[in-house]
Order: sequence, then C-alpha cells, then structure tokens
Amino acid sequence: MIPLSASLSVFWLTAVLGVAPRSAFAAGDSPGRGGAKLYAAAGKVDITPDLERETIWLAGYGAAGRRARGIHDPLYARALVVSDGRKSVALVGVDSIGLFREDVLAIRRAIGWDEGSGYVFIAATHDHSAPDTLGLWGRFPGVSGVDRRYRRRMLDSIAHLVKDLTESLQEAELEAAGGPIDPAGLSRDARDPVVIDPELQTARFLRRDPAAGRARAVLHSRSPWRHNGARGRARVIATLVRWSCHSEVLGRDNLLVTADYPGELCREIEGRTGGACLFLNGAIGGLLTPDVDELGAGAKGFEEAKRIGQAVARRALAMLHHDGARVNGGPVRFDSRVVRVPVENSRYLLFLNSLVFGHRLLTEDGVPLPFWKRWWLPIRHLAVFPLPASLHPWVETEVSRVRFGPVDILGVPGELFPELAIGGYDGRYRFGHPLVRPTNSQPPDLSRAPRSPYLRERMRSKYGMVVGLANDELGYIIPSYDFIATPTRSMLPKPKGHHYEETNSIGPSATAILLKAYEELLKR
Ligand SMILES: [Zn+2]
Repeated sequence: MIPLSASLSVFWLTAVLGVAPRSAFAAGDSPGRGGAKLYAAAGKVDITPDLERETIWLAGYGAAGRRARGIHDPLYARALVVSDGRKSVALVGVDSIGLFREDVLAIRRAIGWDEGSGYVFIAATHDHSAPDTLGLWGRFPGVSGVDRRYRRRMLDSIAHLVKDLTESLQEAELEAAGGPIDPAGLSRDARDPVVIDPELQTARFLRRDPAAGRARAVLHSRSPWRHNGARGRARVIATLVRWSCHSEVLGRDNLLVTADYPGELCREIEGRTGGACLFLNGAIGGLLTPDVDELGAGAKGFEEAKRIGQAVARRALAMLHHDGARVNGGPVRFDSRVVRVPVENSRYLLFLNSLVFGHRLLTEDGVPLPFWKRWWLPIRHLAVFPLPASLHPWVETEVSRVRFGPVDILGVPGELFPELAIGGYDGRYRFGHPLVRPTNSQPPDLSRAPRSPYLRERMRSKYGMVVGLANDELGYIIPSYDFIATPTRSMLPKPKGHHYEETNSIGPSATAILLKAYEELLKR
C-alpha cells in the first residue's frame, strides 16, 4: 500500500468491477486473443507537496530557484492502464516539470511488470509551478532543489497507482477523435520559424457494460477529500488528451504550487464526464508557450490558466461528441528502444553532477564511467576548453511507441521542436504570425531545413500522437540546421537571434540519433 503519510491525501478513482477483478498478467488469461477485446482502468493519485514537511523549490525559468510559498491547486499523477488480455500498457501523466530516466526505471522496478507483456510510459506535463524533480532549481544556481522525501513519495505513489489499476481492468470500448484547433488565444511560438502544432487528439475509454460497474473513490489518507470526478455509475473510464504547449501560464513570479492549465483541463473533463482525464503534452520545444498577454502570477494568471485549460478541454469533448469514432481498440502493442546520446552542452558538462542525478554516465560504447569522472570531467572541461569529443560522457535514454487500435503514440524523451514533428517551414502552421519575425537578428536559414516526411507524417495514423517529456527529459531537441551555440564554457555571450533552447539541450548530435531511432521504430 501507499505509505500513510499524514500529510498526503492520496486517493484514486477506480472503477469497481461487476466482474471479478482481473490482473492483466494472470496465467492463462487470454480474452484478447485476436485483438477483439480491450480492457482499461484509470485513476489518479494526489502528489501535492506538503510545504510543512518538505522543502519545495519550484522548477523552471532560468537558474534561480523559487521557494514555494503555498498551494493553489493540487498536483496529480494520472494513469490509464490498457490491456488486450495479453499485453498491457500503463500511460502515466504527471504534474511535474519532468522525470529523468532513472526515476522512470525506479517506478518500473517498483511496478514489477514483465518486460515482454507490459510497458509503463510516463510523461510529465512540464509544469513550471511544480517541485523541482530534476535537481536544477535550488537555493543557488547549480544547487539541486529536489526534496528527496517528496521525490520518493511521488515515485512510490505512481508505482502503487499503476499496480492497483492493474487489478481493476474492465472491458472497455474506445472512441477517438482528433484534428487541428486554432491556436489563437491558446498557444504561440516564441522562436522562429513560427510553427505551432495545432493538433488536438483525444481518446476515450467507455465501460462496455455501463451496468457492470460503479465508479467510486478509494481513499488512502487520513485527510481525504472528494473529487468531483468520482460520480457513481460514470460510463467513462478515462479520457486521454494530447495537445502541445508549455505549462507555464503562471510565469516566473508565481510562488504557489499549481498544475497550471493541464490541471484545469483535466478538472473540466473529469467534472463533466466522470472518469479520469490523462493529459499528455506534445511537441513543445522551440518554443510553444501559452498565448496570454504576459505570463504572470496572481489572480489574472490563474484565470488565464483556467481559460486555456477549459477551452482545450471543451474542444476535446466537442470533437468526441461530433466526430468521435468508435474504434476497435485491440490489440495493444508497444515497442521501445534504449539509445545513447553524447553530453555536448557546455553547461551540462560543468554541472555533470546535476545530470547524474537522473542518468548514469557512460562511454560511447555503454560502459559505465568511474565515479570520480563526474568530478574530474567538469574540472578538465573548465581547465582546458573544450573537452575533446572522445571524453564526452554519454547517457542512455529511451524512444517508445505505444499502440492500441488506431491510436499510435510516440514517446519523445524531451522537448521536441514542433517543426521536427510536423514541418511547417513553408509557413503552413504560422497561423497569421510572420514565419520569421522581421526583428530577428539571426533568422534561421530555412533553405537548410529538413524536408518532408516529418515524424507525424511517418506515423500515418489519423490518431498519431507525438508526446514529449516521455520517460526522460533531455531538454530541447533542436533541428540541426538551426542549432547555434556559443562555443564557450558558459555558452555566453548569447548568440544573436533566438537561441535560448540550445543552452537547455543535451547537444546537437542527439537530434539525429533520436530521429534515426524513430525511423526504425516506425518501420515495425
Ligand atoms: Zn521547456
């Protein structure tokens, strides 16, 4: 069970079966042979920090940490487990800035699924008003802001949620819908070329026999509180929504913990339909940010988060209502691949210890580097610049693909530039903005931009979803033709034009390595 911390109000909404609860991996359990049947369960767990017992530094925005002063609204991890009886996938959405690979591996170990029959896919909403879980935003630059107790509790809560949902699977039907939405007033692109991913995709799991089950809240806390999604006899098990925008409506002046617009989005859907809402963020690099007058704290910021969250939620529900297609959900398939990428970013090399918080350092061939090198390499980098490529440490990350029926989800371990997903160098996704701002002092050379087919086209499915911050957070994944960084230890002075993202990217080589891995994943 989840540790009964007095501070933590942990509960999840789970469907209680009219039939005996089934484990996705019970021996001899093969109802889905042939892919006809689909089973689903969904729920959520409260991962709001306890500011009295935990020292919480908020994540995001530059190097300076922000000490959290209060809670505006709760943070959750939400999970949807889908099974065809033979294979199962857990999709997890976490109100967090990001999770590193080692965190994801720790959660998987705790869940204990067999790798051949189950896959756990964990994506962060990239919440910029959530606790630092990456070790980058403490009291001083370079000092971790992670509260170990909070982090442990978050990882444990996610693992327990998934394990419990595995026991609550019930037969489900799947509806899917998707299409472009006008980003005006919702999201904009802060970096040239202006490419705004307009795709909103949604999938909904419905209890096949509405009379068979009854939703109820299962409470695991001394101070439980009810959630308005916990309706009796709700037909909806879960609604999955994928859209692309940084979760940063509140801006850098905000000192209150909040789930930002994804929290409002999920609240709206759960309140209207029941069941759990799982929000997966898309291709948000390069840099898709909320289309609000100015990012900011205070009542106006929270109003804007609500406006954007509710608007996207209502569009998703309207799409399901008007264009939602009932689709055959089986079979469930998954595929993932471990890839190694070199650490080339000068700043990452200086702060290698922050990086090893969530990754193991390796050689190019995958041999673990000795412990002392995490100290020696930064010193070497500082003393004789630059560090030769042969000395660059490498880290492992993961690319993944999850499919059920026509829904095809590609997991990207970072913040993918939207143009790598959908193209748009011809201006087709600029939505009235100039493709390149006339004020840009170093505009991108679009004649060198990559050509079609882009990732999303390669997926072919109408319900293809490119999901970012999935199973790792490597930072921005930038098209090679526009990767411009100052070759100094601190990456200063800043290059002309828009090149902030390079300072938060693992390096230029990662992009080609990852794209090649996707090419192989998509062949299968
Ligand atoms: Zn970001």
